[in-house]
Amino acid sequence: MATELLLTFAICRLIVTVGLNVKPAELLVLGFGGGRVSTEWHDLDAASRDFGMLPPSKAETPPLAVVHPSTAEDVAQAVRTAQSGRFPVSARGHGHSINGQSRAPGGVVVEMTSGVGGGRVAVEEGYVDAWGGELWIDVLKRTLKYGMAPRSWTDYLYLTVGGTLSNAGISGQAFHHGPQISNVFELDVVTGNGEMSTCSEAQNPDLFHAVLGGLGQFGIITRARIAIEQAPQRVRWIRVLYYDFSTFTADQEHLISLHGGNQKFDYVEGFVIVDEVLTNTWRSSFFSPRNPVKISSLGSSDSVLYCLEVIKNYHESNADSMDQEVEALMKDLRFIPNSVFSTDLLYVDFLDRVHSAELRLRSKGLWEVPHPWLNLFVPRSRIADFDRGVFKGILGNNTSGPILIYPMNKDKWDDRTSAVTPDEDVFYLVALLRSALDSGDVTQGMDYLIDQNRRILRFCADEGIEVKQYLPHYRSEAEWAGHFGAKWERFRRNKMRFDPKHILATGQRIFEPSG
Ligand code: FAD
Repeated sequence: MATELLLTFAICRLIVTVGLNVKPAELLVLGFGGGRVSTEWHDLDAASRDFGMLPPSKAETPPLAVVHPSTAEDVAQAVRTAQSGRFPVSARGHGHSINGQSRAPGGVVVEMTSGVGGGRVAVEEGYVDAWGGELWIDVLKRTLKYGMAPRSWTDYLYLTVGGTLSNAGISGQAFHHGPQISNVFELDVVTGNGEMSTCSEAQNPDLFHAVLGGLGQFGIITRARIAIEQAPQRVRWIRVLYYDFSTFTADQEHLISLHGGNQKFDYVEGFVIVDEVLTNTWRSSFFSPRNPVKISSLGSSDSVLYCLEVIKNYHESNADSMDQEVEALMKDLRFIPNSVFSTDLLYVDFLDRVHSAELRLRSKGLWEVPHPWLNLFVPRSRIADFDRGVFKGILGNNTSGPILIYPMNKDKWDDRTSAVTPDEDVFYLVALLRSALDSGDVTQGMDYLIDQNRRILRFCADEGIEVKQYLPHYRSEAEWAGHFGAKWERFRRNKMRFDPKHILATGQRIFEPSG
């Protein structure tokens, strides 16, 4: 009862504040299982923050209430209330967006990581059912108990199932297994109409495909059925360096073209090294800070180097054959001969590698800083132009964080989903994962980095490089229409169908509230 009163109080505040068209009597009948509604300052403040820590625009106000659901029904109640009152409602995963995508200015945030008290992850033959607000690290821990694991990942596991499926969910396995949205069998979704629907390829397929990569626009994912496979025990993790960009990308593309069972790596990524010392990567302690590798020690006069990163999964009983497979694969690569760095670790430690870096950065106060990130999908045919103009041009010798670059195969992406990629068989992720520091050096500051991002996007537009933003951020409907291209009409129609009042995920700034 206390919860109902609180929600009513919150909604009444909404009505008073923004003159919403909802009848308080209707709200009194709201029943919130074991869920909780909060209007506490600390909850509202937490729900307004995200990993980007970029200043919100002046027009943005914090949410007026935060719902901590206990069940999918609680989520549905929150959406129905928002629907009848025509106020915004956004699911918030772990708040690891950059540009306020999970905010609900002047509305209600549904805090999906809130506990549902056990039974949030259920492992079955061939799949795992996970609550939409579950962190991937917890899905991993649970499935490993059965010797199983999902097959497609993100580099960092403290993200929620619903949050990554609303984008795509990519990492070095995507070339082979596709993004995480290609590895989902079924979803439970609360649509913007307040309806609870189960959807899959066979059941409500339009909703299923719309929600995958749908930026939270069509419904809130409360459950995802995710493909799993037998988990390997260990991985061999190898990094090799290149002077020459075209040799580097040719090797990456060769590796993602291999299909044969064991005759391929299980993960292919890479990064760009613009700084002199190779320890400037918060992604792992692979190149030890105590034993820094200098670019100059490799005999390079170039200012930019490229690092290919691969892993081979294995079981301890197959260690010998794994060694032979790795040797055979490495023979075909054309990296700098004395630049092989190799290590061996537990599969779980490899998947959770970024968390170790997070803990290191947190201890130095370098994690909770502004992150003006820019993630782009670049068509294969123009990646060399991008290298010339951006890595060897606009960036200078200061990246302010790691720059990832790796190719993916488009045929592993389902074009029926809402996710957008370039129109070529192979495209690259280029991720500029920068941290802005208040160090007195203007080139490390937020304004400088945000401006550099704009220059990179302008360069691509001027050169006709048809990039697509991953984790996109635009401010006008026209820009969004350009982003979605041929998919825009379908995206708009789906919005009319599944969230006609435009109440969901307004933090993405795609659709104006409908009158
Ligand atoms: P939030 O930021 O909370 O939400 C993102 C959007 O999804 C919002 O619009 C929100 O309303 C919506 N949403 C959230 N939950 C739901 C739900 N249950 N149903 C419907 N909509 C929902 N991405 C990759 O693909 N690969 C990576 O390797 C990768 N690494 C990252 C590393 C770090 C350190 C960080 C900060 C981000 C990384 N990302 C990566 C990006 C990440 O996948 C996205 O930012 C993702 O949206 C974050 O998930 P979240 O749970 O924090 O979602």
